[in-house]
Amino acid sequence: QAKDAGKNCLVVFEAQMRQQLLESIELENQLAQAIANDQLTLHYQPIYELSGKRVIGCEALVRWIHPKLGFISPADFIPIAEKSSLILELGQWVYQTACQQLQRWDLDAQLPNLNMSINMSPKQFDDESFFTMVPQLLRRLSLDPARISLELTETAILEHTERNQKLLATIKQSGMRIYLDDFGTGYSSIAHLATTPIDAIKIDKTFVDKACIYERDNRLLVSILAMAKHLELDVVAEGIETPDQLNLLISNGCALGQGYLLARPMPADEFADLVRSQG
Ligand code: C2E
Ligand code: MG
Ligand code: MG
Ligand code: MG
Repeated sequence: QAKDAGKNCLVVFEAQMRQQLLESIELENQLAQAIANDQLTLHYQPIYELSGKRVIGCEALVRWIHPKLGFISPADFIPIAEKSSLILELGQWVYQTACQQLQRWDLDAQLPNLNMSINMSPKQFDDESFFTMVPQLLRRLSLDPARISLELTETAILEHTERNQKLLATIKQSGMRIYLDDFGTGYSSIAHLATTPIDAIKIDKTFVDKACIYERDNRLLVSILAMAKHLELDVVAEGIETPDQLNLLISNGCALGQGYLLARPMPADEFADLVRSQG
């Protein structure tokens, strides 16, 4: 018993240490090293054409395997990176790694041409070099820019400064696509759908979750899908976890989606195997 109590104390102590480290500046330093020392990796979550259940691409999601703390979620370290200029380095690393991966898959004769979605922090709008690096990299890798989608959140897109608008226009001119991530969770999204050059919205998991529980949420989801159709926006549903959710989305015309029901984010090799296995 005393041994168990001791063990519990240790667990609590480790949890506290972990929490403290997560909140400390130390972690910022370690993140800088992690970027330099290849401790970050990308996982790829398949994006499906829902009615035919075929993978048409993926979303790149960054992972940090810390030597002492183990797995740290991007939800924990992206905010830390955003507090400093580290997000710029991280953003460039993610972008380069994802595009190089896409090119490697292109060279595999057994794989079809896939699309790649890449998350972009609003802070990356501070980094004009990013916007010149991106098209250059695509040319060098001979990748069609239309296969790359940049996922931006409402905060980034809706910060309606002249500069952000100019940079969004630059992305469009380069031929890449702009996805509005976590649609519906930010502020005053509807007005901006008309004024910003968005190609697609990603319906946030919270809408997908509730739509199969409450009648009003169900109607809300159906209305969002109808609105997107009228605006000629593509739609990707996020966080599909149940067959009911999948069926609801398909029957209301949602073409694309991702979620644990279909596949979790996975390492590059597993993703390639999965796509090969669908023939
Ligand atoms: P997000 O862009 O909205 O990505 C979707 C998140 O939902 C991912 O979490 C994914 O693993 C998770 N997810 C997918 N399907 C399901 C499901 O069916 N159920 C549940 N419960 N979750 C599901 P993840 O990988 O932990 O990423 C969290 C957030 O961190 C992302 O949200 C994105 O905002 C940010 N993030 C991840 N990678 C990057 C990156 O490379 N750059 C930037 N700037 N942000 C990133
Ligand atoms: Mg995303
Ligand atoms: Mg999202
Ligand atoms: Mg989300």
